[in-house]
Amino acid sequence: MIQPSTAEFIRRMPKTELHLHLEGSISPRTLLELSQKNRVDLGVNDLAGVERMFRYQDFLGFLDVYRACARCLIYGEDFERVAYELAIHLADQHVRYAEVMLSPAQHMLRNMDFNEILGGVAAGFDRALKERGIICRPAFDFGRQFSLEEAHRAVELAQEGMRYGVVAFSIGGDEANYPPEPFVEVFAVARAVGLHVMAHAGEVAGASSVRGAVEMLGVDRIGHGFRVLEDSELTEFLARRGDITFDVCPTSNIRTGVVATLTAHPLRQMLDAGLPITLNSDDPSLFGTTLTAEYLLAVEHFGFSIDEICRVALQGVRGAFIPAAERERLLSDFSAEQARLRSELDL
Ligand SMILES: [Zn+2]
Repeated sequence: MIQPSTAEFIRRMPKTELHLHLEGSISPRTLLELSQKNRVDLGVNDLAGVERMFRYQDFLGFLDVYRACARCLIYGEDFERVAYELAIHLADQHVRYAEVMLSPAQHMLRNMDFNEILGGVAAGFDRALKERGIICRPAFDFGRQFSLEEAHRAVELAQEGMRYGVVAFSIGGDEANYPPEPFVEVFAVARAVGLHVMAHAGEVAGASSVRGAVEMLGVDRIGHGFRVLEDSELTEFLARRGDITFDVCPTSNIRTGVVATLTAHPLRQMLDAGLPITLNSDDPSLFGTTLTAEYLLAVEHFGFSIDEICRVALQGVRGAFIPAAERERLLSDFSAEQARLRSELDL
């Protein structure tokens, strides 16, 4: 059982979210409306049907829904709508800063115009910034199962997208069959043009995938990364370095089946090993979670103390891809607000 004052603290404390996907954040109602407006056949035609789709049984079922979400996004106004709705959903949870991944390959496949996509996303984020003060920036997450040629094209598109606020390039998708090493050149180009870089690693594949992402790709952050613990030397090395953040998404790992149960999830071990970690929702609609719910889980299931919760929230600022002055300002705002809430709630 979680203390009401602790739950209240978690709900109201300022947060960042560094690992979530735009296409996996679309609500069932919005997906239904977009599919009807754009005449995309989802195989279902009412809200109950879409909600049934969201209760997929396995990883392949999850991928089907994810691709269906991407397929329903056709016009700039669609991207604007889902970007705005996600930003408001985050602002309602006291998120002050978020980085939101798009899957460029899903849209390249359909020959979409990235000026229209990113113009729409930026307009949606801008509206939320004006209304609620939340800062959201896009990032590209390239599916590693697509070709290297397409990966290079995606980096070019990300570079062109920097004028719409794109901050980072990442690889995701089929980690088990596509190790990081072939992407060395792609990542070197991404870094050279001024993009931050990260990778989903140590989620489906083991610690060698994390090592490859760090040593070969030069990533600043790792998505998930919990299987790094299978290599104690690498874990100690990264804990000592302390400059590579692990964006952990516990509910996602249960829903996709990469971890069998919450009890088996190594979130606590990652913190105790001294790895810099953040908490994230990954695909909140598809996984039926929220960022606040992930923090509540950390207390309820993993015994995080208020000090530990505060530390994780601050790591969300330290690991963010923002200029130094913005980081310092957010760090001091977050610390002051944490102290104020702790005193108000007697924690
Ligand atoms: Zn992800």
